[in-house]
Amino acid sequence: MSQPSTATSATAHSVWPDWNTAAQAVIETGRQAAQRGWVPATAGNFSVRAADGLVAITRSGVDKGAMVLTDILRQPAGQALLPGSSAEAELHLRLYADHPTLGAVFHTHNLAASVLGRLHVAHGRIVLEGWELQKALQGIRTHETRVHLPVFANTQDIAALANEVSAHFALAPADTVLAPGYVIAGHGLYAWGSDARQAWRHLEALDVLLAQVLALRA
Ligand SMILES: [Zn+2]
Repeated sequence: MSQPSTATSATAHSVWPDWNTAAQAVIETGRQAAQRGWVPATAGNFSVRAADGLVAITRSGVDKGAMVLTDILRQPAGQALLPGSSAEAELHLRLYADHPTLGAVFHTHNLAASVLGRLHVAHGRIVLEGWELQKALQGIRTHETRVHLPVFANTQDIAALANEVSAHFALAPADTVLAPGYVIAGHGLYAWGSDARQAWRHLEALDVLLAQVLALRA
């Protein structure tokens, strides 16, 4: 996101929502993701950056389709994870630290992302090209743009994965158009945006784009 030419450059936000508004956005996002079948068996996690240096983020182990306010943690950005956090919360916090304009990070266990990730993990990316829905990604104007969606191997060492993701986005060549998200092989999808609305649009678009790539392979 440090590169203005990438699809991940976002409109700068000077004002973050108050914590309650951010938490409600997290609850609503979880409800919608559950309706799509993206968060089975308490999978997935969602966060929205709030005012006062706080991040509203899902507690570990809760049904993401039926969350209440007590399922959302008031996580101070840049500080140790609170008790009850998901291990993957570290991936969210690193993204917020690396990219100051990011307002929301959503993680789901989409079928197409999980499967395609395993097929593409050796290449380290899935290239999206020729799909009209690419234009739903911030900054993409045409289906002809080659959009790189990074793929990382699954691991239980979340700190190492956070470092790997951070380095990948920081070191990508300037002429590479990166998607606002990444895939973890055999696991799922991360997507983000300048606010919850944009992050949801990116998540939804990437899910369909990946399903289209998978269908084309079949
Ligand atoms: Zn996960």
